[in-house]
Amino acid sequence: MRVGRISSILGGTAALAFALTACGTADVGGGGEGGGDGGEGGGDTITIGVKYDQPGLGLLEGDTPVGFDVDVATYIAGELGYSPEQINWEEAASANRESFLQQGTVDMVIATYSITDERRQVVDFAGPYYVAQQDILVAADNTDIEGPEDLSGQVLCSASGSRSANNIVDDMGIDAELREAGNYSECLELLGNGTVDAVTTDNTILAGFAAQNPDTYRMVNNPFGEEKYGVGLPAGSTERCEEVNAAITQMWEEGAATEALENAFGATDFAFEEEVPALEDCA
Ligand code: GLU
Repeated sequence: MRVGRISSILGGTAALAFALTACGTADVGGGGEGGGDGGEGGGDTITIGVKYDQPGLGLLEGDTPVGFDVDVATYIAGELGYSPEQINWEEAASANRESFLQQGTVDMVIATYSITDERRQVVDFAGPYYVAQQDILVAADNTDIEGPEDLSGQVLCSASGSRSANNIVDDMGIDAELREAGNYSECLELLGNGTVDAVTTDNTILAGFAAQNPDTYRMVNNPFGEEKYGVGLPAGSTERCEEVNAAITQMWEEGAATEALENAFGATDFAFEEEVPALEDCA
């Protein structure tokens, strides 16, 4: 009995250790010593939450994420004094971005994270570094859905913790039947097997998925709304927010933002936004 209990505790510990390894940090740096590139870093490493399942934005390739958000994060970290080797990547999902910042799991979130008043109650935002719009993805042979108004009575997938579905159902008053998934790649699976009729979220995210499977999915290409991508910071980070805003300004001025967008979407037919976003106040 006693032995059984101990071994089950040990088993639990081992399972937890495995879980932490399996879905935890993809540490590409291992805690560099110094070696920053000139800025005034605040420690040996910086931990940044990005998506791992969104092609073009944050997608895990091997044990390193790649994409526009990852490039933005790397640029900003560089300006804060952290070399790429000093970045610890952490997978962020739409639903855990606030809690990651509140609990100190990450120092920053750069994960298609829209600035909203509600989120500003619990976290700070620098930026925006990019302004996306919302759109809809359907099966390539679906010719019925051309805009949000066609979603009435349709089964609609979005990721839990995102604003996308609320924008349609609550703000636009369209009575779509909601199906929440853990992330957008799960929504894509549900769209692929016919469980849902459409997926809605930012056009950047949908464009990345559509480009991967152009024969299977079609982005409706009828964008609406405005999704201002912020750099999520723990509440009370006014000074760091100012530093991040300076980095964002420079990233656009130097052409690094446009270059990162080109890298992410240049080979697709997605017409990404090239206008420099207007920064919001920190505080
Ligand atoms: N940008 C939107 C949001 O932050 C949708 C995309 C996402 O969930 O990452 O809610």
